[in-house]
Amino acid sequence: MTALFLEHIRDTLEQIDADGLYKRERLIQSPQDGRIVVNQNGTGRKMINLCANNYLGLANHPDVKLAAQQAIDEFGFGMASVRFICGAQTLHRELEQSIARYLGKDDAILFAACFDANGGVFETLLGPEDAIISDSLNHASIIDGVRLCKAKRYRFDNADMNALEDRLKQAESDGARFKLIVTDGVFSMDGFVANLPAICALADRYGAMVLVDDCHATGHLGPAGRGTPALTGVDHKVDIVTGTFGKTLGGAMGGFIAAAQPVIDLLRQRARPYLFSNSLAPTVAAGSLMAIEIAANADDLRATLQQHTSRFRAALSAAGFDLLAGDTPIIPVMTHDASLAQKLAAALDERGIYVAGFFFPVVPKGKARIRTQMSAALSEQDVEDAIAAFIDAGKVTGLI
Ligand SMILES: *Cc1c(COP(=O)(O)O)cnc(C)c1O
Repeated sequence: MTALFLEHIRDTLEQIDADGLYKRERLIQSPQDGRIVVNQNGTGRKMINLCANNYLGLANHPDVKLAAQQAIDEFGFGMASVRFICGAQTLHRELEQSIARYLGKDDAILFAACFDANGGVFETLLGPEDAIISDSLNHASIIDGVRLCKAKRYRFDNADMNALEDRLKQAESDGARFKLIVTDGVFSMDGFVANLPAICALADRYGAMVLVDDCHATGHLGPAGRGTPALTGVDHKVDIVTGTFGKTLGGAMGGFIAAAQPVIDLLRQRARPYLFSNSLAPTVAAGSLMAIEIAANADDLRATLQQHTSRFRAALSAAGFDLLAGDTPIIPVMTHDASLAQKLAAALDERGIYVAGFFFPVVPKGKARIRTQMSAALSEQDVEDAIAAFIDAGKVTGLI
């Protein structure tokens, strides 16, 4: 590697830092949970965790861990193969059938991550004659997946149903063969649910299909945790669901697509991230399988999650914090100003609260925030402690 090239890379890094965008990772020395032990200068500090996607607390659930432990004895550690050569075990097929049944679809197909599922789904199913109509706030993996596909792209302003209708009309007048509307089920930076009934009604009117990326919902939102399509009563109208095992469903890793049988069959033949990437580790498949079973029967955990969400929202709102409205366990505390978000995050850190601040370019300029996420792994006392810390930190930083 030439000195000139390394110099160029160092300059880029310095620019990222100078722009205040350098991401520094903190280290946890305990399992992911409501309370975690954070490594600070070599010593462990116990903190209340408000920034994991561990909505039902399954990331460290004893039954999930036991299932993974048993899988290592029965199925070994790794697959050392892609699925179609010799990388599929009965376990992998069981996981596909389980997630398909859970979401009410014919079948499902596994990927190493939902990032890969979104990377493979569009290119496989659509061609240059087709149209993809995508919400402007959709996840980065959707944006990248759409880029890999030759279909014509239409973008509509976040959650703007008039804009969506305009794009559908445009796609129609452009002569699109098939049209696919794509949306996140939950917009993760803002914490609100997509207007799926309106989207599905427009899809009906214009003969379009609907794909929902339900990563921030599967397992904890909707009846039995079946996600935003079930929550909004349109699960029979949503054609394709992409999702992850890396959040509510155990939080390890792995993604999936659930849809009608021919769609899954074609993805198995053609989806490049599926064809050319290793199979999920047996421990991950077995743990995720157990996590689905727990989630499907976890009304108690969902009630706890809902209680924490309502309590945290009400208390912070009453204390004068500016919260984004929403109906999910994602509760963004707005500071608007980026440096204020950093100050609030630092003040919370001092008070034992583990949070993450978000500012441009992750969210628009002037919309900086601390995004908090509730979890059933938190105790009522944890939530009360977090509220007290927020109020104290909010006063110290002059935010409230
Ligand atoms: C987290 C997330 C992904 C990525 O999922 P992985 O399985 O971690 O790759 C994709 N889409 C959305 C909407 C997400 O929130």
